[in-house]
Amino acid sequence: MGTMNLGIVGYGGMGSYHAESLIPEEGDLFKVFGIYDINEERMLKAKEKNIDTFKSYEDLLASDNIEAVLIATPNDSHKELSIKALQAGKHVICEKPVTMNTQEFDEIIEVAKEENKVFMVHQNRRWDPDFLLVKDLYETRAIGDIFQIESRVHGANGIPGDWRHLKRHGGGMLLDWGIHLLDQIFWMVESPVAKIETDLSYILGDEVDDGFTTYITFENGIRSVVEVGTTNFTSLPRWYVKGNKGTARIDDWDLSGEMVIATGTEVEAKPSPIRAGVGLTKTMAPPVQGVTKKIALPKPNVTQPTFYRNFYEVIHYGTEPIVKNEEVREVMKLIDNILTF
Ligand code: NAD
Repeated sequence: MGTMNLGIVGYGGMGSYHAESLIPEEGDLFKVFGIYDINEERMLKAKEKNIDTFKSYEDLLASDNIEAVLIATPNDSHKELSIKALQAGKHVICEKPVTMNTQEFDEIIEVAKEENKVFMVHQNRRWDPDFLLVKDLYETRAIGDIFQIESRVHGANGIPGDWRHLKRHGGGMLLDWGIHLLDQIFWMVESPVAKIETDLSYILGDEVDDGFTTYITFENGIRSVVEVGTTNFTSLPRWYVKGNKGTARIDDWDLSGEMVIATGTEVEAKPSPIRAGVGLTKTMAPPVQGVTKKIALPKPNVTQPTFYRNFYEVIHYGTEPIVKNEEVREVMKLIDNILTF
């Protein structure tokens, strides 16, 4: 199978990242055939990078050379642009969050089925090394049976850009970052939810949430805290994961952090009480020497093909998509429930 030509709609931050980094990194699988952006300045930027531009989205869709379309526009436009592309006979990659709500998502899937085209959502954080490391710990039981997973991203820059501040464009941090972090947890834990509660924050005074904390209890007993903050002037670790044989802390996307595990060594001695603040405690005293040991965090195990390779193989060989539409729908539905509560 040869190289596939992609058309990109929306050449902003993410569209240009796809065009200039993600797609060229795929070698011979894909080529950017051309882009369309409603903003003339962005079209000029593309030309400066020697990327061809189309005068309108209709022109881009009418090109027989384009086999697939990547949608990287603000969230409220994803439904219409996706449906148009599918009806023009193109396969589609749509940026996250796929749509504003589940109803819109269902409409797209209906058309994808009618047109017999592949529609995949760019839930790229399923490939993040920090996440794959945690998923590995979960699957290999390197810290025993995991019973608590805390996943956080903390920034101090507020809500970025323009449209992300507005409800009508699908702004807010739950739709922006929540969609990634919840997707990761649900994909990893694979258990129905027993209980879920979300606390949205509006510290910056926008009409959309500038962060949130979600508490999840899964039916298999695992608990999770998922948190996004945009006014955190110092951050908590990216991941804090507790198993019955150890604890892992992954501080950031560079995978710094540590893992402490129980050695299984039986010792006679019990921890001695320590002074803690103005009090005394045995419970919170450090474990007796030899009972635990610090080990380096393992390297994440990246065996899955890249998002783009998988998209290519789904189209050409009928391979199973790594990001399945049913999974995307499950998280979208959850977000619907939070935002309409
Ligand atoms: P952006 O504002 O930087 O870029 C959006 C671009 O779309 C702009 O250039 C704008 O002119 C153009 N545009 C708007 N409406 C259009 C239309 N109808 N037709 C053609 N062009 C149109 O936004 P962004 O940060 O690039 O985000 C775009 C999408 O990518 C969003 O859905 C966002 O959630 C997603 N995104 C994903 C990731 C990720 O890691 N997967 C990261 C950032 C953004």
